Amino acid sequence: MASSLNLLVLDGDGIGPEIVAATLQVLRAAQTTFGFDLDYTRADIGWAAHRKSGTTCPDDIFERARQADGVILGPVSHNDYPPREQGGLNPSGELRRRLDLYANIRPARSRPGFPPRCGAPVDLVIVRENTEGFYADRSMHLGPGEYMPTPDLALATRKVTRRGSTRIAEAAFALAAQRRRKVTAVHKANVLRVSDGLFLECVRAVAARHPDIAYEERLIDAMAALLVRDAGPFDVVVTTNMFGDILSDEASEIAGSLGLAASLNAGADHAVAQAQHGSAPDIAGKNIANPSSLIGSVAMLLAWLGERRGDERLANAARGIEAALDRVLAQADGRARDLGGHLDTDAFGARVAAEVKRT
Ligand code: NAD
Repeated sequence: MASSLNLLVLDGDGIGPEIVAATLQVLRAAQTTFGFDLDYTRADIGWAAHRKSGTTCPDDIFERARQADGVILGPVSHNDYPPREQGGLNPSGELRRRLDLYANIRPARSRPGFPPRCGAPVDLVIVRENTEGFYADRSMHLGPGEYMPTPDLALATRKVTRRGSTRIAEAAFALAAQRRRKVTAVHKANVLRVSDGLFLECVRAVAARHPDIAYEERLIDAMAALLVRDAGPFDVVVTTNMFGDILSDEASEIAGSLGLAASLNAGADHAVAQAQHGSAPDIAGKNIANPSSLIGSVAMLLAWLGERRGDERLANAARGIEAALDRVLAQADGRARDLGGHLDTDAFGARVAAEVKRT
């Protein structure tokens, strides 16, 4: 049976359209090389959607995302959006919540040819809970999780559930079983005794069911320092939403650059490929962003689909794209500006696409 892919493509804001275009070049090359049918439709989100329809996140996006085999999501400038009542919804958070994309898988891997920023090679994956935690758009049934009882008092609610903690721990141990068989749980249970206490209780219960996988715990503050000191020993890191968000940017920068930072938002039924970083307004419109992050994210989406469907063509395409990225990045003239190179965004996409075709 022919492999077929029907994707929804959302450009996003800032560098979004530039890195999405470069990523699609690579995906089309993979389609030809690895022999799968590719069909994608596009929809506006972010400022482009707000200009047309008064909302940064039109309602039909969610049904279209559910119907698609997967979504490619460019970064969004939600820090600049107007309040929710004026149409400023964060498409990234809304997709994670409404499609129940509870696992945000964020690898940080140093690449051949240039050293990681902190000495030894890095190859770790942060498994970040994605649907609860300290996120105001995800912590309440009704209304935002931040509120001001008086003009001089602001409060925020952090949500940690047994179900959310258990399923993210299970995702982390399943991943570790395919890697170097080690999980590190990161928390702040010395201060957040109840909420991170519940998180740890759940992770420990899952760890007890996997005696063949090494398990350790680290406090978030120490973990931030340990990554800088030597990120090499870490394999799979499981943590709550905000700690995972911050640590993964740190780990990716240590491994090379945020511009390399791929990620997949995955649930039981849906997955969204999305770079770890934001819309980088400081370099938007200049064709200088590094699209490796989104290219790598799409490779993760193909791997996820390949595994679910038992489809070797998609699994091979995922491996082929990753290998092509490695080969291009290993060449001194094969890098974008964040890695000290000179390749523009579109030229980098074309180089990786050509390398995929040589596979
Ligand atoms: P950012 O991640 O956009 O940028 C941080 C730094 O990394 C900047 O110097 C930027 O130029 C650089 N950078 C990021 N991606 C790069 C790439 N592909 N190639 C080269 N350099 C890259 O963080 P920010 O500037 O704090 O946030 C900008 C906007 O993005 C804000 O509105 C924020 O809310 C939003 N944001 C969105 C997401 C998302 O869509 N998932 C995530 C984080 C931040």
